[in-house]
Amino acid sequence: MIAENRRMVVAGNWKMNLGVEETRSYAKTLIELASRKKELKHALFAGDLELILFPPGISIYIAYTELKSTSVAIGAQNVHWEPKGAYTGEISVPMIVEAGCRYALVGHSERRHVFGETIDMTSKKLAACIEGGVTPMLCIGETETERKQGLTEKVLFEQFKGAFGNKIVPTGNIYIAYEPVWAIGTGNTATPDDAESACRFVREKIAERFDAETSHKARILYGGSVNPENAEELLSQNNVDGVLVGGASLKPDAFLSIASSAIR
Ligand code: PGA
Repeated sequence: MIAENRRMVVAGNWKMNLGVEETRSYAKTLIELASRKKELKHALFAGDLELILFPPGISIYIAYTELKSTSVAIGAQNVHWEPKGAYTGEISVPMIVEAGCRYALVGHSERRHVFGETIDMTSKKLAACIEGGVTPMLCIGETETERKQGLTEKVLFEQFKGAFGNKIVPTGNIYIAYEPVWAIGTGNTATPDDAESACRFVREKIAERFDAETSHKARILYGGSVNPENAEELLSQNNVDGVLVGGASLKPDAFLSIASSAIR
């Protein structure tokens, strides 16, 4: 695998944190801190890294306007598959595009396990994103019980295959975040070896479902209790092209410290 062709991705999933004013001050601090270090400044403004932030819906537009001068891309944490209609509480792909999003998380484990999102729903969301010009980042991962039963690869395969269905043809690079449920928010990070073997498995499945080139170009991220201390080792794995960071992305200094580990 020629990993150097793939630009590293460092993404922050803020979940239900950071409202409008907090987002404004986060963005200002991020720019200020990154501007002090040459490499980080380059990463932030010249796009050496792919930096993506997923704020809560209410903060998307302010994040976009405050970070417009940088290469940081903004994404939504969730979308509905219909463009508009009677879906109280939901946000559509055209709406997030208008607010400045280029990415959307699809099938995050909290959507699946807290809000009952099914594989069929992830597939509809994925299709709506691709059709609407947004890059979906599909999140997949096994629970602790499934892992103990030796079902990790089976679950990853079902979630991947189910979401991409038979008809979905991605227009750009595929983004997948491998996030074991037992590692999210628990401090139990997967070992670099486990992250690598799951990400390699996903890459193989992409090659089987699509082709070698699509698989080679796909960005496969690891997520689950990533922090400034463990990021570098996770990011040094061949098939780990980036990290999706929850808790540690809420502070600009910690997020930038993780980003530094991704600079090659
Ligand atoms: P965490 O969350 O880094 O807080 O474990 C990761 C995620 O849910 O994307």
